[in-house]
Amino acid sequence: MRLDANGHPLCVLTVHAHPDDEASKGAPTLAAYADLGVRTVLVCCTGGEEGDLQNPALREPGGPFHGVEPEAEKAVMARLRPIELSRSAEIIGFHEVVMLGYRDSGMVDSPANQNPACFHQADLDEAVGRLVAVIRRTRPQVIITYNDDQRGYPHPDHVKVHDVSVVAFERAGDPTWYPWAGPVWQPLKMYYTVWTKTRMRMVHDAMIAKSGKSPFDEKWLSRPSHDDRVTTRLHIASHMHARSQALLAHATQVDPTEAWWFGLDDDELSALYPWEDWVLARSAVSSPEADAVEICLFDGIAEVMALPTGVDRPQRLVELERTSTT
Ligand SMILES: [Zn+2]
Repeated sequence: MRLDANGHPLCVLTVHAHPDDEASKGAPTLAAYADLGVRTVLVCCTGGEEGDLQNPALREPGGPFHGVEPEAEKAVMARLRPIELSRSAEIIGFHEVVMLGYRDSGMVDSPANQNPACFHQADLDEAVGRLVAVIRRTRPQVIITYNDDQRGYPHPDHVKVHDVSVVAFERAGDPTWYPWAGPVWQPLKMYYTVWTKTRMRMVHDAMIAKSGKSPFDEKWLSRPSHDDRVTTRLHIASHMHARSQALLAHATQVDPTEAWWFGLDDDELSALYPWEDWVLARSAVSSPEADAVEICLFDGIAEVMALPTGVDRPQRLVELERTSTT
């Protein structure tokens, strides 16, 4: 087990909206830290009850949706998603999974948004209190949440994850908030997940070269870019399998034949873009200098992820700029 300067076990806590988000955003990073002896905690805010079946093969004979009437599918889904999440979390190596206990709010403007039990309807102070209680108990130095700009995918639960996380980061160390929630604990850094445009464009080009087609249409390629906000780039090629295997564990949500997820295999992705990118949004310790990127989420807290041999410390955005202008 790795410890910080004060002797506390190193811990990273990641907040997600639905079962499967932990597989599509940051799985290799969390798997790498688990292997490096860092405690990893997943907070999943909703049960994903509103998810549609994305994998038609499960309607074939022998599949769990075979012969199920459309109006009964949601009940089967609600039963399967916790099982899928637990398998995915095992693959990624999470030490603990905490369900925050809200209902999936569904896509924007859908009737599920109005359900009083849904995350979208949750009182902010109350939801923050639930997350603060988890933070104070698990004592993470690093918190991961979603971006403040979600124009690219404005799902109400994803927006709420951001809103709740940033306030929880501030209140977890403040004894005047939630005295019932245990001794205070101040996390030191907070990161936003980010899918860079550079990576998307490189994957798109590689798929065109490989098979002549790509699922990244103009709508995706023209999403707002966050590339110039990247502060942190982790070399995670050794754990790329955590992404693909965890995605496959979410069999109701992920079609294994879909190029969107699997157009490039783990080795191809690792050769093309062996990193995951992050935006450091809050820091009570050192922040990277303007011309450098961090190579570890615990930079300034402890030495955890070393630079792979033969790789120079990357100059911030050099590659991003080079590839985005070609
Ligand atoms: Zn989601």
